[in-house]
Amino acid sequence: MLKLIKEAGVVGAGGAGFPTHVKADSQAEIVIVNGAECEPLLRVDQLLMVHEAPLLIRGLKALVQVTGARRGIIALKKKYQEAIETLTTHLEDGLELFVIDDYYPAGDEHVLVYEVTGRAVPQGGLPIQAGCLVQNVETVINVANAIDGKAVTDKCITVGGEFTARQTVRVPVGTSYAAVLDALGMSDLTGKVAINGGPMMGAVVSDWSTPVTKTTKGILVFPEDHSLVQEKMLSSHEVFRLARAVCVQCRYCTDLCPRYLLGHQLEPHMTMRGIKYSLADMEPNPSVFLCTECGLCEQYACIFGLSPRMVNSQLKKIYTQAGMKPRPAKDTTPIPMWEYRKLPVKRLISRLGIEQYNQPAPLTDLVIQSDLVVLPLKQHVGVPAEPLVAKGQQVTRGQQVAKVPEGKLGAAVHSSISGTVEDVTDRIVIRANGGGGR
Ligand code: SF4
Ligand code: SF4
Repeated sequence: MLKLIKEAGVVGAGGAGFPTHVKADSQAEIVIVNGAECEPLLRVDQLLMVHEAPLLIRGLKALVQVTGARRGIIALKKKYQEAIETLTTHLEDGLELFVIDDYYPAGDEHVLVYEVTGRAVPQGGLPIQAGCLVQNVETVINVANAIDGKAVTDKCITVGGEFTARQTVRVPVGTSYAAVLDALGMSDLTGKVAINGGPMMGAVVSDWSTPVTKTTKGILVFPEDHSLVQEKMLSSHEVFRLARAVCVQCRYCTDLCPRYLLGHQLEPHMTMRGIKYSLADMEPNPSVFLCTECGLCEQYACIFGLSPRMVNSQLKKIYTQAGMKPRPAKDTTPIPMWEYRKLPVKRLISRLGIEQYNQPAPLTDLVIQSDLVVLPLKQHVGVPAEPLVAKGQQVTRGQQVAKVPEGKLGAAVHSSISGTVEDVTDRIVIRANGGGGR
């Protein structure tokens, strides 16, 4: 089963991109399907749980079997009523639903494991250290497809934001953002940018030729002068300058930090203090490696709009370049205030100023035809895949075009259309022979 998952190129589709054949090669007590989808505006997982329920159940059963788990649980939010009703009719012995409230970041693996099992994942550790394997909804569906011999060729994404025809669609991996938006009737992108993923953790993309990858969750179109975009576009120099000038050490960022509340030794206000007094230059602070960059401190907690998230992110890069490693995993005990400081997504949406975009984005059967796909050789955690094709070669949809290098962590890549290989560099470019290539 693991071999089939590896051959199909399955990786964490929720954004992490960790190769699934490696993650699932473990002994677990509980397999948890992460159906929390806590990023505002994204609809992928909640819709797939309705429309692909039988496949999801098959994928979950496969993961329960391969890990030797006793239980398989689909964790999803109370507000996903249609998914709850649909999945309930498909559940089998040994599989359960676990319903959670609508707060951010309910989809954080450490948060989800604690919510579902009451077990605290060690800080700096992985859910498997608490006996749990956590996989995103679309990943589990891809596992079921892999067992049927189907490789990952398409990605389900929500196309939304300032875009009236909001919908959730399946697109061939490698299709450009511009081609997706054009197919949905939005060709004038003047004054707009995209946020790749959700508004909290997603990055701003202004190059419309950027391809959809196996980890893209959404293309959210925003006016480039939207406050959310402006904040994400701040340079690290400006973020550090503001931190030094403005932080009043109120510690709201720490008091609301989900990882701090789970008992991790992460106190963003202390990192900001270090920046303020230039202590970070003198005494490296390894706690920054515990930051998941969920953005809650930056987008909600700090009344001045400062960004401990970006400070942590920059310090991680600086420390990694200097050879520093995260501390080993350590047992933690969540603090009692955790229960009372869960941030309702509704309140977060209001704070982000995105209420007008918080609309349904139904899953449609629209088949997006791609004339050209660009397949990066690294769409996953690990080393880039090794090309198996050369310029000028004909390939068919589903054909493996790059493999995992021997003995390395990585994922295979498959052609998402039928056509001719136009270029092979750190990406494989394939042009359809005609008729969109599918
Ligand atoms: S919430 Fe803002 S002002 Fe308060 S300690 Fe954190 S970064 Fe500083
Ligand atoms: S981004 Fe902020 S709130 Fe989120 S884990 Fe990091 S420090 Fe905590």
